[in-house]
Amino acid sequence: MGVTSSLRRNNKSFLRIFMVLVLSCIPDSLDLEGYISFNDVHNASKDFGNRYQLPPLAVLHPRSVSDISTMVRHIVHLGSTSNLTVAARGHGHSLQGQALAHQGVVINMESLRSLDIKIHKGKQPYVDVSGGESWINILRETLKYGLSPKSWTDYLHLTVGGTLSNAGISGQAFKYGPQINNVYQLEIVTGKGEVMTCSEKQNSELFHSVLGGLGQFGIITRARIALGPAPHMVKWIRVLYSDFSVFSRDQEHLITKKNGFDYVEGFVTVNRTDLLDNWRSSFSPNDSTGASQFKSEGKTLYCLEVVKYYNLEEANSMHQEVEQLLSELSYIQSTLFSSEVPYIEFLDRVHIAEIKLRAKGLWEVPHPWLNLLIPKSSIFEFATEVFNNILTSNNNGPILIYPVNQSKWNKHTSLITPDEDIFYLVAFLPSAVPNPNSGTNNLEYLLRQNQKVLNFCAEANINVKQYLPHYETQREWRSHFGNRWETFAKRKHVYDPLAILAPGHRIFQKAT
Ligand code: FAD
Repeated sequence: MGVTSSLRRNNKSFLRIFMVLVLSCIPDSLDLEGYISFNDVHNASKDFGNRYQLPPLAVLHPRSVSDISTMVRHIVHLGSTSNLTVAARGHGHSLQGQALAHQGVVINMESLRSLDIKIHKGKQPYVDVSGGESWINILRETLKYGLSPKSWTDYLHLTVGGTLSNAGISGQAFKYGPQINNVYQLEIVTGKGEVMTCSEKQNSELFHSVLGGLGQFGIITRARIALGPAPHMVKWIRVLYSDFSVFSRDQEHLITKKNGFDYVEGFVTVNRTDLLDNWRSSFSPNDSTGASQFKSEGKTLYCLEVVKYYNLEEANSMHQEVEQLLSELSYIQSTLFSSEVPYIEFLDRVHIAEIKLRAKGLWEVPHPWLNLLIPKSSIFEFATEVFNNILTSNNNGPILIYPVNQSKWNKHTSLITPDEDIFYLVAFLPSAVPNPNSGTNNLEYLLRQNQKVLNFCAEANINVKQYLPHYETQREWRSHFGNRWETFAKRKHVYDPLAILAPGHRIFQKAT
């Protein structure tokens, strides 16, 4: 008893000393408009991937850009006497701890959202938003003016700073490039605490570094995003293929066509039986009898998903254009399904799935996702091996596959892509749900499957690049960047010389 209470006393005094040390590293006397929290750090310890728990020492809830700059300058001032690092956190939808700062400071960028969303109409319309703003709010606001950003992600409850640090890719990227291509200007707090404005013309090296820069060079506090006219409605179409080469030929045809569809994606289904029945809840078959006779059992099938935007008064001409475009494709005729929905409903589609999964407690589970960029020259070999031999089903989550046309992409950003004009995004998006009847949904099994895919790419010498990349060692990062590593490292030295920013990527180590 005596020993236990003395231990408890010792623990308490240890905790007190520890807190004094922490507070001296991050004094609450810092001149801030927002506040620092030392207790409420649970949310900032994890992310959507749900595989890492790395608590920070503190979370900053900034009310102004100057709060962020003050915090970064304070940590810079401590220099190598402290091992504090800083991670900006959007909505924490990262997969492997990229938005975490173990024993460091996480900046909750959502607190900055209080900055107004400012829309500028005119010849080249744009919107000024905070780096912590979510894309769904931007869409809702711009739609009031009949405007909309041009390039999207499939899910809109992500933040501007989070997607611009990666790329922001969806079915519009073949036409407009990724989201990082559709930014006119940024305001950045660098790793030295300086507040800088940058664009293609002003501080262009910082601008290009930050776009796709994995949060390594600065914190995006404001972004000026290009807008275009927003359509009222979309015609949303799905068709199936059983032959990969026919499917990919049609996808490639569509992304190189002028005046084609406005969105081109696709997905793979392996060993599914109920596919077309599932579609019927939101899509209508063109040929009901043919569709009801179609059997998908066991086969690997490829679904092309396309969308045409239109305004209500253009419905007739839209139908004719769609008929013409579909007549150029070689899908299985009985599998044509379509629907017409408001533009915002289409863009916010994944949120509907989120609500359903949350209700079943299936949203906050581990997500061992793997996103790959595969050059066109290797996609057939990749698909043949991965979809027919490595994967036995995709009952645990979707597999997306669609090509993009790199000629529309800005080559000066930090994003690394395969060195071919056309490459495919292949996204394996499983949820690891413990299931007593099947070993195929468990985390270890899914991670092994990802590793098999990566091993195959290495053995077949496929020049694959990871999107939303994750590596454990600097050697692997060097290999990811290839001949662009030197530039990346040099820019890091210029904008964040102490390597305090975005430690969760494990690219650079803070010197202590
Ligand atoms: P976080 O996860 O919070 O942060 C991501 C990285 O950016 C971290 O390194 C963080 O430190 C850094 N960061 C965050 N904010 C800032 C800032 N203001 N300044 C500088 N650095 C910052 N991606 C696509 O491209 N296309 C998709 O279709 C797509 N669909 C998705 C669907 C779902 C359901 C989910 C969960 C993710 C999807 N993503 C997609 C991935 C998404 O782009 C990444 O998760 C991205 O990290 C954005 O999430 P976030 O805003 O929560 O950022």
